[in-house]
Amino acid sequence: MTGGIAPNLSGRVAPFSAQLSYRWQAKRHGIITKAVHEEGGKIALQILHAGRYAYHPFCVAPSRKKSPISLFTPWPLPRWGIKKTIRDFVNCARLAQEGGYDGVEIMGSEGYLINEFISATTNKRRDDYGGAYKNRIRLALEIVEKTREAVGKNFILIFRLSMLDLIQGGSNFFEVIELAQALEKCGVDLLNTGIGWHEARVPTIASMVPRAAFTWATKRLKSHVKVPLITTNRINDPWVADQLLREGHADMVSMARPFLADPHFVKKAREGREREINTCIACNQACLDHIFERKEATCLVNPYAARETIILKKKTSAPKKIAVIGAGPAGLSFACEAAEQGHQVEIFESKAKLGGQFNLALQIPGKSEFKECLRYFQSLLSSHNVPIHYGRQVVAQDFQGKEYDLIVLATGITPRRPDFEGIGHAKVLSYLDVLEGHHEVGKRVAIIGAGGIGFDVAHFLTSVNNEEGAFLQQWGISPDEQLRGGLVEKPAAWFSPREVYLLQRKEEKVGARLGKTTGWIHRSVLSKKKVVMLSGVTYDKIDDRGLHITRSGKKQLLEVDNIIICAGQNPCDDLKVPLQSLGFRVEVIGGAKEARELDAKMAILEGTLLAQSLA
Ligand code: FAD
Ligand code: NAP
Ligand code: SF4
Repeated sequence: MTGGIAPNLSGRVAPFSAQLSYRWQAKRHGIITKAVHEEGGKIALQILHAGRYAYHPFCVAPSRKKSPISLFTPWPLPRWGIKKTIRDFVNCARLAQEGGYDGVEIMGSEGYLINEFISATTNKRRDDYGGAYKNRIRLALEIVEKTREAVGKNFILIFRLSMLDLIQGGSNFFEVIELAQALEKCGVDLLNTGIGWHEARVPTIASMVPRAAFTWATKRLKSHVKVPLITTNRINDPWVADQLLREGHADMVSMARPFLADPHFVKKAREGREREINTCIACNQACLDHIFERKEATCLVNPYAARETIILKKKTSAPKKIAVIGAGPAGLSFACEAAEQGHQVEIFESKAKLGGQFNLALQIPGKSEFKECLRYFQSLLSSHNVPIHYGRQVVAQDFQGKEYDLIVLATGITPRRPDFEGIGHAKVLSYLDVLEGHHEVGKRVAIIGAGGIGFDVAHFLTSVNNEEGAFLQQWGISPDEQLRGGLVEKPAAWFSPREVYLLQRKEEKVGARLGKTTGWIHRSVLSKKKVVMLSGVTYDKIDDRGLHITRSGKKQLLEVDNIIICAGQNPCDDLKVPLQSLGFRVEVIGGAKEARELDAKMAILEGTLLAQSLA
């Protein structure tokens, strides 16, 4: 399935987004369809009209109602505009056929144009495309009916149906059934599942969403239609996909991000090599966040994604003997790539296991997927027979007299400790003390530093075991068939075992620099847990009573049992100079090189790039 391609100008997601309306464009699609067919695949083009979500002033919708996440107020589509839009969908489908596609998917979910017509919240029309439900679904049905007429029988027609709107006033389940059955009559071959409008304040694909959390919404439709159903959202491994099919949740499973993480996913699964799959950890950091930052989408765990012609995999003709110090993501990605090229690599790691800070990250609720990344690295290291010397806190003298062509320093970071009165008090802990479980933490806590780690520690301290099982209930989602949008009106309050303050010195909103597509979730979770988030804080002192701060010129005492330092990190590169003075070529990567704003995306990319730079 391609990404969404607009059937006309007003339907483009953004001014320069893809549109398929002319024959010359269809020809160019032939490059992709041919490549897919040569590999034995089938390919469908998704026709997406962005409706009021479009980021341009020509956006249209059923009614003049701006979405809460849009810049532009839409133009209400006149009746002739609706008829033209239907013709544009049909034209797009026929051009897709000419371009060699095997089918099209009509995007009818996620809050885009067709979905906006379906919901009474966004459709306030008084003509025969508004009012009663049968009128609001008219656009969807006419598009499908006319498309089927135009493309004939031997062309796959998929409709992406919003099975759970996750907005107040969305469709209830009986309406979903009515639409599904009507679409079936109009000639769809397959119904795909849409979960949540983009403006929904419920996470639907981020890592904190448990795997396959929404497939029940597809399953309950199964007995009401004859056409096969496709299920989706947070399905990232073949075992889960297989189980869903066996348990009858759907007839097919759809994934997108997992193929960025590993383009060979299907092949490996088919050949029984599941453990070799590089699993998507649902972080959104290099795919969706990049798109919203107007950068090219790639993948945190697979830096080759969308850069396949830029970072080239090479085999060496002159193998080097290389020592890697540190088995965090930077050291691991380097070691795996260098070994694959044919270099002789060995790893020295001070801890008893590989992974570096990933072992801390996976303690955080909703981040357990990080363990998949470590499983993948482990499987690559085994397949290339890379030795790992665990429990080896390397000092430069260990390498005296050794013969290495290159030493790669991937020793990570040391946590930064701010310097003010009372910082040595027994109440003060570092995030390492907390996440490595070395210390009990009291009921009232202040966290100094509200970066990614401060947020994660706040989430960790305000959570109880087994919260994943409560995901639907926490976010107010219910399978009650009567409920509009699948949401209860008043979700139960969230429980927190602690009172937490999350503090930063900057004046800006706390969490303003978190990921574009996940920051709002982190802020929302902490708000629901009643974490007090304060910006513009000056730290005065710590004593037996707690943390003394000044804010907007006012002195304040936070009476807390513990103060946890999450104030960023410094590079841990002490070995560089001593190793160089022993005559070694030393390359530094990851946190050891630059700790500021270093995240796993950068660490893995740096490891990969250094390996590929070796001749
Ligand atoms: P590290 O992961 O720190 O690895 C360094 C390794 O070197 C360690 O295993 C260490 O034991 C070893 N070592 C150090 N000195 C020696 C020595 N002398 N001899 C032998 N071995 C040595 N990033 C993201 O992108 N997304 C996230 O969601 C995310 N969440 C996080 C959550 C938490 C709680 C934490 C703590 C970090 C998180 N990060 C996240 C940051 C990410 O984990 C780091 O950016 C990344 O691990 C840095 O990789 P690295 O290999 O440079 O260093
Ligand atoms: P960070 O994001 O740089 O945040 C450090 C925090 O400490 C800031 O809030 C900063 O705010 C504060 N601070 C800095 N110096 C201080 C000082 N001297 N005294 C008091 N406060 C100070 O670093 P991090 O939270 O340690 O995270 C490390 C890396 O891991 C980052 O690159 C981050 O992106 C990544 N990470 C990502 C995620 C994720 O979910 N994507 C999660 C965890 C970590 P003020 O200066 O305003 O006080
Ligand atoms: Fe998955 Fe993260 Fe890669 Fe996106 S960047 S495909 S969410 S692992």
